[in-house]
Amino acid sequence: MNKRLTIVLFLFSVFCFCSYAIDNKKVEVYVSKERVINDVYTLASDSMKGRKFSCPGREKAASYIAAQFQKAGLKGINDSEEPYFQKIPVRNIDRGKTIIYKNDFEYISGESFSFASTEALDDSLSIPVKFVGYSTGEMVGCTGEDTLVFFLAHDLTDAHFRLKDLAGATGAKYFGFSIFGEKREVSNFISNEQSLSLDRYPVNSFGYFRTDRSDNWLFDYLPYTGKDIGLFLFDEKLFSKQFGQQLRTKHRLSEKSFRNGVLPYSVETTLSFMTTFQLIEITTFDDNVIGYIEGADLRDEFVIICGHYDHLGKRGDKIFYGADDNASGTAAVMELARMFMQARNSGMDFRRSIVFIAFGAEESGLNGSLYYVENPVFPVENTVLVINLDMVGRSDQPEDVPGYGFVLTMQGLRRPVWRAFRNTGRQIDDIRLERMLPSIRTIMSYLGSDHYSFIRKGVPAAYVNTGMHPDYHRPSDTPDKINYDNLVNIIKVVFTIAAKVANEPERFPLE
Ligand SMILES: [Zn+2]
Repeated sequence: MNKRLTIVLFLFSVFCFCSYAIDNKKVEVYVSKERVINDVYTLASDSMKGRKFSCPGREKAASYIAAQFQKAGLKGINDSEEPYFQKIPVRNIDRGKTIIYKNDFEYISGESFSFASTEALDDSLSIPVKFVGYSTGEMVGCTGEDTLVFFLAHDLTDAHFRLKDLAGATGAKYFGFSIFGEKREVSNFISNEQSLSLDRYPVNSFGYFRTDRSDNWLFDYLPYTGKDIGLFLFDEKLFSKQFGQQLRTKHRLSEKSFRNGVLPYSVETTLSFMTTFQLIEITTFDDNVIGYIEGADLRDEFVIICGHYDHLGKRGDKIFYGADDNASGTAAVMELARMFMQARNSGMDFRRSIVFIAFGAEESGLNGSLYYVENPVFPVENTVLVINLDMVGRSDQPEDVPGYGFVLTMQGLRRPVWRAFRNTGRQIDDIRLERMLPSIRTIMSYLGSDHYSFIRKGVPAAYVNTGMHPDYHRPSDTPDKINYDNLVNIIKVVFTIAAKVANEPERFPLE
């Protein structure tokens, strides 16, 4: 098959028709603003609760998108009962909960202290505390098991050795320590404990910018002592609240006493706490939703049209609707799927395959698209172009600008592709597209959405968006603020470009 495709664009913008001619056969493709509106309102509704993993609203959104793909007639990617789902395993460690009680206050582990134990625990205790400052185990001697030995350390490595020494000499089961004056180190360490219970995707979300922090937490500092021990790390503030500022000062001075070889002081106090410490690894699944139209003679090459469907969920009782971010782009992906199927059903073949992806877990660090490029359903090296639609619903522009959008062009994406975007934009309701090149100003856009996962793999990718606004990542990003006329125009531009790229004789460049 070697039909020379000419795309002729007729402007029936009022009725939202795009007409295409192939070998003099005209195909009319209908863009439905009503469907787009319905999709945005559905995805950004109360019942989807901000579409965050691992809440039911996110699953609901994924099912809705899959149902739309199916209704449109896209092919699924597997033979399971969920043919449009690429399952992403997400690991999480349930480490139970530890609470310290003090004068009607509750302090929860991961906030102002950290707790770890060598064994699973289910204890509710009030035990005497013995302060030993910088003393050695030999100086402290045996305290018996039912004591909490509280010591000081210069840093975390020092704490590890002191603990080993004290655990052997005192025979106590519980220990606590503080590092005064190392605020940042201690608080990082304590918050790392919280990040442990964060969802961990197979491809570490920020792996390119920082190391996996989850390995750096209190549990790893528990030395092997031959018996089970539990360990608290207090920040300065909690220490003062729990034991008093005066003791903090005395405790701190204990280094002097230590040099003189005597125990600094002894204080009678107790620590009340409850713990259900455990380490249980749980795997749950997030989803990318993927459907495609198989191409004709070049079916092993792929054009991807994508946008993420997840958002920030709820905080308290406030729902982050994410209408622009990114119900708008997801609605565009679904409408484009319908349009391409409509064209296909009207007799227009596409030479290359066209893949539609609604990515999950973008907000938590491009996790969905990172998983996809590491576990591609369609070979990444045969992906000729990715068009990522993220935040395409707002064009808070002066009234006299009919349509507006940005296209961020990327590595490997040559000038002709940009020209095609721009010219198509001009043809359709005079939509004005601006080119953004990667620069300091656009760096966050460059790194900030799923196209980046493909760029990293050398796949040409374009990022289409309509810019920032004050409702970004706020509960006020609602569907009533979307400029649906502009969104429909952007859909038309993307349809035209993707159809052209799918049918070009050469992969690149577009001319
Ligand atoms: Zn987004």
